[in-house]
Amino acid sequence: MTAKIIDGKQVAADMRAELKDKVAELKTQGVVPGLAVILVGDDPASKSYVTAKEKACEEIGIYSDDNRLPDDTSEEDLLALVEKCNNDPKINGILVQLPLPKHIDEDKVLLAIDPAKDVDGFHPVNVGKMVVGQDAFLPCTPHGVIQLLLRNDVPLEGAEVVVVGRSNIVGKPVANMLIQKAATGNATVTVCHTRTKNMAEHVKRADIIIAAAGWPNTVTADMVKDGAVVIDVGVNRVEDATKKRGYRLVGDVDFEAVKEKASLITPVPGGVGPMTITMLLYNTVLSAEKAMAK
Ligand code: NAP
Repeated sequence: MTAKIIDGKQVAADMRAELKDKVAELKTQGVVPGLAVILVGDDPASKSYVTAKEKACEEIGIYSDDNRLPDDTSEEDLLALVEKCNNDPKINGILVQLPLPKHIDEDKVLLAIDPAKDVDGFHPVNVGKMVVGQDAFLPCTPHGVIQLLLRNDVPLEGAEVVVVGRSNIVGKPVANMLIQKAATGNATVTVCHTRTKNMAEHVKRADIIIAAAGWPNTVTADMVKDGAVVIDVGVNRVEDATKKRGYRLVGDVDFEAVKEKASLITPVPGGVGPMTITMLLYNTVLSAEKAMAK
């Protein structure tokens, strides 16, 4: 069996078109969703993420408030800016680009964000609400994974899912979402990590594999059941002299071999990646709708 490739760019484009319509509708009611983007320092990767997020906002009509601060910004000044955004009615979402410079306590800054504007879904209030199944902003990458599954008609109810990775930003939240008693969950989930004994035996049972380990070839074809659905969250650089920049991006899955066994598989790039920013836009629009309903 050769897998159908899940086109993350297409799913993201469809969702962004839906969101653009929603934003236009909100504007007729005098509401413009607003996202404050805060970048401290000039790390090139962070800069390009922030630019991509602002461009995506612009494309669907979200107002983005660009805050680029020097590397030596004090924690106090950053906290004051977060507080200003918390109190600004034009701002529905606050995104502090991570990592922050070493002299700033990241946890302190994330905790300072009003949970009602925490469109990254990292605030413990939102994480807690997600775990107990209450209405919450869901973290963007794991929510993007769920949307890719749902929009490709992958049945979740009763599915055996194996998640490889237990980070706070991908593995744990995606596992949590999938066990919720809800149409977006109802799966039976196993979470593997570096202390898991015989990971291959777990992965072999999976109807759906979600790889978020951060290492190429963590999931190989011998671990994959025929017909499994494979979602590759990993983004890894591997040296490639044929590329001008000297490297190429690969996921955590041995894509070429695994696609011969899977029924559906995401590529890297072009799979989960485009969904992450889309879900940030989704949360920002949702936040504006919630603020309007208050
Ligand atoms: P992370 O914080 O480094 O966590 C990696 C997790 O994988 C850890 O729980 C680790 O286990 C586990 N792990 C590592 N090697 C393993 C192995 N050989 N077998 C089993 N488990 C293993 O990484 P992350 O932030 O979750 O990100 C994971 C990957 O997703 C990275 O490649 C990252 O770049 C990518 N990512 C992509 C997006 C996107 O938008 N596409 C967003 C976020 C992350 P321990 O806990 O035991 O150490």
